[in-house]
Amino acid sequence: MSERICRRCLLRDVQDAALYQTIRDYVENLPAEQKADAEVYESRLRVCRACDSLTNGMCALCGCFVEARAAKKALYCPKVPAMW
Ligand code: SF4
Repeated sequence: MSERICRRCLLRDVQDAALYQTIRDYVENLPAEQKADAEVYESRLRVCRACDSLTNGMCALCGCFVEARAAKKALYCPKVPAMW
């Protein structure tokens, strides 16, 4: 059976509950001073959802799970020019 590939899906949309929980735990445990606020986080994820580089929650340009990358205030989209 082939693996399910979901273009423009976040990890939260993919059926891998254990992996999603790992990413959620990572985000929840980020120190407050490093964490993007909730509005910025969701805004970043909306941009990722509309991006051709997103597959199964992972950005093809940087290899990050975007739900983890977008959670860190100081990080940015790796596309040139950056989309967030
Ligand atoms: S290129 Fe930027 S907008 Fe696209 S998936 Fe990667 S981080 Fe998200």
